[in-house]
Amino acid sequence: MHATTTSSYFPISLRMNGVKILIVGGGLIAARKIRFLLEKQAIIEVFANDLCAGIKQWKQENRLKFLGPLPDESRLKDHMRQCRLVFAATDDHAKNAEIAEWANSCNILVCAIDDPHASNFITPAIIDRDPVQIAVSTGGTAPVLARRLRETIEGLFNHTTGKIALFMGKYRSMVRNACPDLKQRQRLWENFLDGPGGAALHQGYEKKALDHLQLLLDYQKPLQGEVYLIGAGPGDPDLLTLKALHYLQNADTILYDRLLSPEILQRARRDANLIFVGKQKSQHRFSQDEINHLLIEHAQKGERVVRLKGGDPLIFGRGGEEIEALAKAQIPFQIIPGVTAANGCAAYANIPLTHRDCAQSCIFITGHAKKDGTLDLPWKSVIRPNQTVVIYMGLESLSYLCKCLIQEGLPPNWPAAIVENGTLPEQRVIAGTLANLPEKVLQAGLKSPALTFIGEVVLHRKIST
Ligand code: SAH
Repeated sequence: MHATTTSSYFPISLRMNGVKILIVGGGLIAARKIRFLLEKQAIIEVFANDLCAGIKQWKQENRLKFLGPLPDESRLKDHMRQCRLVFAATDDHAKNAEIAEWANSCNILVCAIDDPHASNFITPAIIDRDPVQIAVSTGGTAPVLARRLRETIEGLFNHTTGKIALFMGKYRSMVRNACPDLKQRQRLWENFLDGPGGAALHQGYEKKALDHLQLLLDYQKPLQGEVYLIGAGPGDPDLLTLKALHYLQNADTILYDRLLSPEILQRARRDANLIFVGKQKSQHRFSQDEINHLLIEHAQKGERVVRLKGGDPLIFGRGGEEIEALAKAQIPFQIIPGVTAANGCAAYANIPLTHRDCAQSCIFITGHAKKDGTLDLPWKSVIRPNQTVVIYMGLESLSYLCKCLIQEGLPPNWPAAIVENGTLPEQRVIAGTLANLPEKVLQAGLKSPALTFIGEVVLHRKIST
């Protein structure tokens, strides 16, 4: 697990209509804020030494109250106390910081423009599809980046987004009455959005959408639980597939393993119930039976349960045992493949898995030793020529494994490489031979997770310029 930094900002949506806001400043910066606040029907009061044309016009139209030039500290504080928010928006950075300090001393929420340190709230970049609003905040660190992100998100939502929200708002109480159970109701709305009703709304056919909604309400089914076995890839969160992301966003409960990066879990539904079932080598927290039991128990409650695994669920992931248990308990399930460590590590370490010159096949084996320390492997097929061998869970047994391969007939100078923390920023790659790799790994103090590649493909590793 690597550390994440958390911003101390918590985004909220404030109701603004009829709320008094004090703006200190009358230039273009202040005008930009005022325009947005007027749209939200806030009551705007302005102190400023000069007014730009836009603010003058709003003043003439009686859309805001002009209180006069900047007053002294005590009069300004009196006004602040009557307001819910203050924007220190003069063109003078130091003055804004001073005003913010005064507001702070009165315990009023204040935003000093372009000065997150002086402010106790900041305004995000906004994508507005009224009534849907998407706010992008970088915690005050990089407004330009926030604007770039805003541009990207703007492109994702067309004008129908707001209409869909209005439709759902209009029929919200009707649906609540016809479907009082919260979980069932959430599922019904999701099915509506994912089904023909949502498609009709996207095309602007409200009447048709309503018919579909009515159908869902008339034929409500009891919640049916389901389990999704999802491969999360070897580490880099961007290797998560779109399908995995979709199911993570819909999950009620997520059972996850030790090797998962926190960034991947952050992409799951916020209110999902997260259960760590990771197996530490020495301290077994959950047995496989207990995990199977948990999956079944939650699915039987009608939940959508995600079993999230590193890499691919069916490659050294015990996915096979889990689907057997699910099938036996008659729980519907789906498997969503992931990038396995062999693929991920090979790609990020620039080692081809096959190569026309030297590797026509590739074999994945486990290096996990039996209790007596020996490896139960089909050695004859492991040392076959023109083959790449990828060893999962083989760090501890590396030295023994390399010895066995030499004894079985591979030359001591046969190429071998090991990738630690593959696909992550801290990835390390060590290349050598069967004879010297174990010593090199010891010297470098390599730790799990690590994956070993054996074969001439290692020589084709190229460092990108
Ligand atoms: N289902 C997983 C494998 C689970 S077994 C998959 O398909 O990838 C766990 C082993 O996978 C680890 O001991 C290690 O050998 C390998 N592994 C997983 N993630 C890794 C990573 N980021 N870097 C190197 N090896 C990794």
